[in-house]
Amino acid sequence: MSVAGNSARAMILVEPRRFTPTRLPVGEMEVGGWLAVEATGLSGVDVQAWEGTSRFVKYPLIPGHEVVGRIAEAMTDFGIPVGTRVVVESSIRCGSCRRCMNNVSSCNLRKPINAYGQLPSTESPALWGGFAELMYLDPGSRLHVVSDDVPAVVSAFAHPLAAGFTWAVEVPDLRAGENVLIMGPGPRGLSALVAAKAAGAGWVGITGLSHDADRLRLAKELGADMIVFSDVDDPASAVADSLGSRPDIVIDVTSNDTEAILLGLDLVRVGGRLVLASTKGTAPVNQLFSDIIVVKELSVRGAFGASSAGYHWATRQLAQDSRLDHMVSHEFPLEEADKAIQASAGHFGREDLISVALAVS
Ligand SMILES: [Zn+2]
Repeated sequence: MSVAGNSARAMILVEPRRFTPTRLPVGEMEVGGWLAVEATGLSGVDVQAWEGTSRFVKYPLIPGHEVVGRIAEAMTDFGIPVGTRVVVESSIRCGSCRRCMNNVSSCNLRKPINAYGQLPSTESPALWGGFAELMYLDPGSRLHVVSDDVPAVVSAFAHPLAAGFTWAVEVPDLRAGENVLIMGPGPRGLSALVAAKAAGAGWVGITGLSHDADRLRLAKELGADMIVFSDVDDPASAVADSLGSRPDIVIDVTSNDTEAILLGLDLVRVGGRLVLASTKGTAPVNQLFSDIIVVKELSVRGAFGASSAGYHWATRQLAQDSRLDHMVSHEFPLEEADKAIQASAGHFGREDLISVALAVS
């Protein structure tokens, strides 16, 4: 079956805060493939594209980087049959640029970032995001089969779940019995909790703000040993009361909170590991005295995006852990992309808000 010659419904973000529903013709491509999009999860990356605060985005573009769908056509052999449902890793890798050679997740063959949902639709073949019925599969796409038994919007949660595994298990090399403090209860923070517990962590605590009450309640159900509202209670005393010592690993998955870095450096044990997985844009970390890293002999690691190992784990975990069905609290049809983004940003309130997905087909 050839997809070329058809057209695909898409929501194009022509400028910040303005979507235009459209139909794009599908051109003939010699390599890569086409994905029939089923669902697309939303994250802060989409919110920033919508608000116009991302330094990676050029307009117009089709947002959506947490994509799941079925392979509709494959000009390049991805090793997976046409018709199979797959999760597409957000970042595209050329395999030959300096970044790919150094095995970091942010290939920059296409500037400024080679990733779905962030490439302008002026670049052929335009369909580079999950806010559309069809998405082009670059030959450098990495695909992971996901069970047909998992609801489509839930399988899109493989993306944050993969990041949770990468940041909580892989990057800090988590060993069974170790204690982990996660700062930030968003979809990726909750995923880090699920992954750490599944990997045999001893104690896992998680911090959030008062408006995160429902996310922290879910964290309890997912096995968190401690939840703390860091705008009401002192996280240091809460950790001391609950754990009785300092965590081996602290992970910063807060949103735009520079203070979290100072708190993480302070709370982690001597010789411990701090994983920084949240970007702070142009905000500096004030009053950072680097001696704390030296004297405590800390390992500080930056983590940007999810690894293929993370995706491999996440797609399997979704098929066997039905608790993950609760991770997607809101779903919207493609036409309501605007509403979906605002819901995910918390503009309609945060009650019951865990994560948001678009059900595309
Ligand atoms: Zn590359």
